[in-house]
Amino acid sequence: EATRAHLDRIAAVDGDVHAFLHVSDRALDAAAEIDRRRAAREDLGPVAGVPLAIKDVLVTTDMPSTSGSKILEGYMSPFDATVVARSRAAGLVPLGKTNMDEFAMGSSTEHSAYGPTRNPWDLDRIPGGSGGGSAAAVAAFEAPLALGSDTGGSIRQPAHVTGTVGVKPTYGGVSRYGAIALASSLDQVGPVTRTVLDSGLLHDVIAGHDIHDATSIPDAWPSFADAAREGARGDVLKGLKVGVVKELPDSDFQPGVAAAFRDSLAKMEAQGAEIVEISAPHFEYAVAAYYLILPAEASSNLAKFDSVRFGMRLDVPGGTVEDVMSATRDAGFGPEVKRRIILGTYALSAGYYDAYYGSAQKVRTLIQRDFDQAFAQVDVIATPTAPTTAFKLGEKIDDPLSMYLNDLTTIPANLAGVPGISLPVGLAPEDGLPVGIQFLAPAREDARLYRVGAALE
Ligand code: GLN
Repeated sequence: EATRAHLDRIAAVDGDVHAFLHVSDRALDAAAEIDRRRAAREDLGPVAGVPLAIKDVLVTTDMPSTSGSKILEGYMSPFDATVVARSRAAGLVPLGKTNMDEFAMGSSTEHSAYGPTRNPWDLDRIPGGSGGGSAAAVAAFEAPLALGSDTGGSIRQPAHVTGTVGVKPTYGGVSRYGAIALASSLDQVGPVTRTVLDSGLLHDVIAGHDIHDATSIPDAWPSFADAAREGARGDVLKGLKVGVVKELPDSDFQPGVAAAFRDSLAKMEAQGAEIVEISAPHFEYAVAAYYLILPAEASSNLAKFDSVRFGMRLDVPGGTVEDVMSATRDAGFGPEVKRRIILGTYALSAGYYDAYYGSAQKVRTLIQRDFDQAFAQVDVIATPTAPTTAFKLGEKIDDPLSMYLNDLTTIPANLAGVPGISLPVGLAPEDGLPVGIQFLAPAREDARLYRVGAALE
């Protein structure tokens, strides 16, 4: 019934929202199988039978995986991403694959090769990106749970603009195996849901060591659902030290975003939290460093789309291998992907490597040190999740720099590998659109984010 209800909902609203690139024709069968196992009194765990939307960056054997790109149109993977395999094993029912900016490059889902997703709160506005499809599906009640990926904010910023909860786990906390790589040192897979507890339940399913991912942390994780339940019971805010970054003044944010942030801090203070001003002097260089490191890694990761191994191959009569490769990549990649490949290739080229990539890596270390120093003083850091509420479709599409600057507050966590959560804290009075607050914790302290998030929720 739950699966059917969500498929009906998708049929009713997805023509407008366009959260899905593909809807599974096997969802009802998978759900029926769960019903049979439950009838046979199998112990199925807490999420069995719950429908799940899957960002198209995650490969699946029974549905195409395009990563929002024409170059992978119709691509069928021979294996499931580890997070997908674990979701199936937990009895979650895949509903379909969600729309995204091409290869997860973007903050609005407008860079998808398959047309934009619209924000269910206002169809003229963006649902965030790159995982706008997953967030919009959850916000529009097309799916109760979704998987996303976050390289510079692609789970947290869509959550912020759609009034949903999104978590970027500690780097290495969730397997990247089968997540089509954007920037391997930054990518993490995580949940997008409507409540903190729901994110904890999904995070419990996907977390843990995977021998297929060399950067996967081998240690066991505590239950994030239990952490959320603990937080919801109260008093976890008493004595909690919450850091607020001096270098992110209210003037960096839309008034309603700053106001909702201040209200949340006051609420936490009223429940016994201590608000502490901290300094993170290198955060202001995070966007610049990220937009060198990410294109550098992406240009290398995307070299595998060479017209031979994966996806599209154009016919060039009488052409050489190079002609076929270049015609295919020219037709298969969209403008943002090409922009980043050129930037990344340039940043990595001999003679420029130290000046660009080398400097960016140094900034990355300084940002990690900012976090180390901050977390010596506070338990969590709080920021607004993004500078503005959902902007209008088309507003930033021709201005890559203003699109990049939108990632101001989400990017530092990826550069340092620390976990982050965004949860909704109300609507901005000036436009009536959702606003999120972001909490960041030291690496491996993801459970703290669930406790704090659920306490504030
Ligand atoms: N907006 C960021 C970018 O365009 C986020 C990407 C992501 O997290 N996948 O790179």
